[in-house]
Amino acid sequence: MSDCIFCKIASGEIPASLVARTDRLVAFRDVSPQAPMHVLVIPTEHTASLEEVKDGQLLGEMLLLARQIARDEKIAADGYRIVLNTNRNGGQTVFHLHLHLLGGRRLTWPPG
Ligand code: AMP
Repeated sequence: MSDCIFCKIASGEIPASLVARTDRLVAFRDVSPQAPMHVLVIPTEHTASLEEVKDGQLLGEMLLLARQIARDEKIAADGYRIVLNTNRNGGQTVFHLHLHLLGGRRLTWPPG
């Protein structure tokens, strides 16, 4: 999608702090981190939200890449959180599917 900021990050049209890339996914640091480590994992192909996803394997790949990044960044043993905000009540603000990987501090619960 031509006006989607995450499509532009995936294509390299706008810069981001990339953490990982696979044939179907890109991971990059959130521009407004909510924890010492805050990475977003997105599919390169545009999908607006979890509600649009038909390919369950893609979701599995996103989770496993997030887990690998947590391990690589040495936060896995202490723990981390994966969040997938969906639509308005879920707090989604960018309508290109993404999961948040948050860690590096003790996260509170419940979310706001
Ligand atoms: P959500 O509210 O779940 O849709 O999350 C969108 C996230 O994208 C927010 O945490 C933003 O800080 C982040 N974000 C927006 N624009 C950029 C950008 N250009 N580079 C990195 N992260 C971004």
